[in-house]
Amino acid sequence: MNPYSVFAYISRFLFLLSLSTIIFHEQLRSNGRQTRYVNIYGSENFNTTPVDNLFGAGIGALNFLYQDQIYQANGQPNVTPEPGAKYDFIVIGAGTAGATMTARLSEIKDFSVLLIEAGAEETLYMGVPLLANFLQSSDEINWKYETEPSDKYCTGMKGKRCKWPRGKVMGGSSVLNYMIATRGNAWDYDRWAELGNEGWAFKDVLKYFKKFENIQIPELRNDKKYRGTRGPVSLDYAPFQTPLLKAFLEAGQELGYNLVDYNGKDQMAYGGLTFMISMPVSMAVFNMLDISQPYMKDFFLERKGPITVSGGCEGIAFLDIDNPNKKYGLPNMELISLASSIYSMEATLDNFGLNQDGTCKMGPVSDKTAVVDPTLKVIGIKGLRVSDASIMPEIPTGHTNIPTYMIAEKASDMIKQEWGYPID
Ligand SMILES: Cc1cc2nc3c(=O)[nH]c(=O)nc-3n(C[C@H](O)[C@H](O)[C@H](O)COP(=O)(O)OP(=O)(O)OC[C@H]3O[C@@H](n4cnc5c(N)ncnc54)[C@H](O)[C@@H]3O)c2cc1C
Repeated sequence: MNPYSVFAYISRFLFLLSLSTIIFHEQLRSNGRQTRYVNIYGSENFNTTPVDNLFGAGIGALNFLYQDQIYQANGQPNVTPEPGAKYDFIVIGAGTAGATMTARLSEIKDFSVLLIEAGAEETLYMGVPLLANFLQSSDEINWKYETEPSDKYCTGMKGKRCKWPRGKVMGGSSVLNYMIATRGNAWDYDRWAELGNEGWAFKDVLKYFKKFENIQIPELRNDKKYRGTRGPVSLDYAPFQTPLLKAFLEAGQELGYNLVDYNGKDQMAYGGLTFMISMPVSMAVFNMLDISQPYMKDFFLERKGPITVSGGCEGIAFLDIDNPNKKYGLPNMELISLASSIYSMEATLDNFGLNQDGTCKMGPVSDKTAVVDPTLKVIGIKGLRVSDASIMPEIPTGHTNIPTYMIAEKASDMIKQEWGYPID
């Protein structure tokens, strides 16, 4: 780790925190009991004192530092290929798609695969939920693109430019993102197929959505038609929910909406957000840094509490606002329920970013705007494919990380098949 990086400073802070709380624990011990998560999150009573919290946060921070060392030590070593080295496949970019492709292609023992990433190694700090928004401010792991100033768009933003964050790190944008897990609507993929992309209808891609996921929500594990339980990416509700989520869901029900799995048969619904939990997630609120409160202790020791809620996003709803009585089909609005106001308006204007995809569109060769064909080969160039979020011919109704996994899974199978290897 670069000793001057922000992550090195965080590491030193945690180390000092852990030392100081361990040293002063006994001296500070008092009998004052504290109500847990009071004011912000309701009032779940819990028998902790500020000193317990301080001590727990200190021990937890020390353990976290240790885990980070192990995490870094177990990572793949960085190597520079020898001059003249040959590989069967060179994957550029270790983001959501690149990492997935590399993992799947490497399943074939005969294949040699080189993965090239412009950014740094990922550390455990980057997975701390509290830091999700903060990560976008980093020069080290965000490419920090911005849109051109315009009088037509981004007019409410600073300098009339929108932030265009993209991850520059092992894991790519999935390291910066909020881990909201949405597939989009079945109709989105049927539409991809209608546009001339054979093999991309929902019935064709569903098996790839299922392939990489391991749904943890007990009642959904039985939905074998739509959900997967054997993939490497775990999905679950956040381990902490505020009373606001309950109110949001009740409001949806009052309006006649069902509470259903919006990644299942019907998308139009209200629901608690599911997140990718193979990485920790976040709710970034500055008072959670108060180590006399139980927040940090809970997170560091048990990975629970409000710091595990991604960016404060708790609930989601997909609605058709033109036809409010319509409860099935394709929605035209997504609502996200935020548990808290994390930033001032000033900071929001400074930080608010956009998702951007579809810059390298997939389409039939007859489509003059297409860059890749439905097998993801770059039209007119041999031996080059693009397989990531950029190939989406139209953006699905939702967020794009889960669809990007699907694209990479399907691309890996197409390559294996073309090389004469079996697929499952
Ligand atoms: C701030 C933010 C929040 C988001 N929140 C969500 C969310 O909550 N839910 C959701 O579903 N989606 C979310 N997304 C979108 C989602 O993360 C992306 O759609 C997905 O990660 C795209 O994957 P990708 O593989 O196409 O690209 P990336 O994951 O961006 O990977 C591209 C990789 O290529 C590397 N690279 C680029 N050029 C080179 C080069 N020349 N040489 C070597 N390496 C290179 C980059 O450094 C990067 O690591 C969010 C995105 C951002 C930026």
